[in-house]
Amino acid sequence: MKFLSKNKRIIDSIVSQIACRKRFLITIHIYPDGDAIGSQIALYILLKRMGKEVALINSFPLPARYKFLPNSELIKHNVTIPDSEAAFVLDVGSKGRLGNMRDHINNIKTVINIDHHLGNDRFGIINWVDPHMSSVGEQIFHLYKHMKLEIKKPEAICLYTAIVTDTGSFQYSNASAETHLVVSELLETGIDHTRICNQIYQNIPVSKLKLLQLALETLSFDAKGKIGYMFITSDMYTKACAAEEDSEEIVEYARNVAGVEVGILFKQHSKRNIKISFRSKSKIDVRKIASRFGGGGHHNASACTINGELSSVLKNVVRVTALELESS
Ligand code: 5GP
Ligand code: MN
Repeated sequence: MKFLSKNKRIIDSIVSQIACRKRFLITIHIYPDGDAIGSQIALYILLKRMGKEVALINSFPLPARYKFLPNSELIKHNVTIPDSEAAFVLDVGSKGRLGNMRDHINNIKTVINIDHHLGNDRFGIINWVDPHMSSVGEQIFHLYKHMKLEIKKPEAICLYTAIVTDTGSFQYSNASAETHLVVSELLETGIDHTRICNQIYQNIPVSKLKLLQLALETLSFDAKGKIGYMFITSDMYTKACAAEEDSEEIVEYARNVAGVEVGILFKQHSKRNIKISFRSKSKIDVRKIASRFGGGGHHNASACTINGELSSVLKNVVRVTALELESS
């Protein structure tokens, strides 16, 4: 594959680190998603196959929808961190996205950063950052191939989950021809992708649907219908008996409306702490908009957090997004 020549040197240096060390930690970002979790487990399987000791510790608990993944029960949070010679940090553009794992990572000398965010600030000692990759899952696939390791069903399930979730089920522009070739090889292992998608997308708890119902009641438009936005207050989470993880994908309903170019979801995490998710149909680069507010992400999907009252944050973000739409 043409991919490998470009990244050969950097993957070689990761392989040498694996060869000369014994105890590893793998961690991922706060509000973990399918790419981060699937990649974490697939890398765990690879390291175990090389005879290593591996701890999987995150700052956030595992969302229920990913508990079907093989070995997911090994992922811990809020536990004592064992001594590690090296840490893999996956799907994280900057240390600010590590939550309470940040201090632990700061104490580990050999930090290997594997990521596909354009704005990655290269915080590791080795930084394999490739924004052309659909997902970290696709990168881990290439690591297996580079190490000439056979891809078996358990890791194929994890890598498929990583890729299908980070490409919006192959809808986003990051789902390249190469991505589809990778997925074809994963399917060749005999995994049941329908079952995987059932687990991820057709297993919705009622609390999540209730939250969606409440959020949809707030759906509004701006910029002549090119911006669709919704909000979720702390009270709405309580009313729906829902958790933060239940808000995943709600923003897509705003983006998917005919005529809308950018969908925005405002989530009140606490009274003055608002998390904002942006999704674009593809014309608008929403990473640029999130960056204005100290966040980041990808062309089609980005996010940021702002401290302030929901109503004023909402007004300001919609205004800035409308200006961005005008100028593009
Ligand atoms: P989501 O809306 O699903 O939380 O995030 C969308 C994308 O934006 C993800 O790819 C994620 O990596 C990125 N992202 C989410 N929150 C933040 C943030 O606070 N800062 C930065 N730089 N990126 C974020
Ligand atoms: Mn990712």
